[in-house]
Amino acid sequence: ATVAAFGTPLPGETAPGVLIVLHDISELRQLENMRTEFFSNVSHELKTPLAAIQAYAETLLNGALNDPEHNTVFLNNILQHTERLHDLILDMMQISRIESSTDVFEIHEVHLEQSINTCLTALAPQAEAKNVELKFDCNTANPLVLADAEGLRTIFENLIDNAIKYSPQNGTVTVRSYQNNSPDGNEVTVEVTDTGPGIPMEYQARVFERFYRVDKARSRELGGTGLGLSIVKHLSQVFGASLELESKINKGSTFRVTFPVVIDDQQY
Ligand code: ADP
Repeated sequence: ATVAAFGTPLPGETAPGVLIVLHDISELRQLENMRTEFFSNVSHELKTPLAAIQAYAETLLNGALNDPEHNTVFLNNILQHTERLHDLILDMMQISRIESSTDVFEIHEVHLEQSINTCLTALAPQAEAKNVELKFDCNTANPLVLADAEGLRTIFENLIDNAIKYSPQNGTVTVRSYQNNSPDGNEVTVEVTDTGPGIPMEYQARVFERFYRVDKARSRELGGTGLGLSIVKHLSQVFGASLELESKINKGSTFRVTFPVVIDDQQY
């Protein structure tokens, strides 16, 4: 609030007028707090792998380089932390791209099934490494959705990657697509279901926040950045899609994205 007193009373006049200007700064302050919190999180996330890289490099220079038993382990650790930094920087670039303006997206008609298939092919080696079965239960007729092709793949990649990542050895990840005809128009839903640990009810809304992880140590160990689902949420909003999560502890999770359908491309 700004308070300004003006005018000095002349003899015989009453007290000076007081002008009170009230600005609602709560929203601005909230935004500022979010920004500060984001930078503090980013700094922390960058500092951890950097400190590890520095420590391993110093240990190598101080003699471990000549110790054949340890030097490979240390070099592999350096590589692992470098990959972590790389993933973090890529995710942050995504966020900055999404936030800069919606103009950065080339929104046009995109083949949904093709987009899912591309992601499944790219993630197949990851699933194989854990002996996770990767299934695509496709019940759609080549629908086209309005989206940015790269952004659409980012949604599916993040959801399928998480499903594999949090699945136990020999688990199953199922991607299911189906169409719903509602009075408001046709919609297409893509579900990604895993047989992983599930997400407790009280954390289900929070997992879409930046850097929020149910189990920080486990996410780090699995190479997570804590940014994937916040990117999925943001992109879904840009493409007019709704995003839902259904999860039961020890049973698994289903992430569900529903897009408005432009047209069924039977020719494709
Ligand atoms: P991360 O890089 O840590 O996986 P995300 O933003 O993708 O970050 O996810 C946030 C958190 O949500 C994860 O750390 C994890 O705790 C939880 N999570 C996401 N997907 C799953 C899943 N399929 N099964 C269980 N937990 C999940």
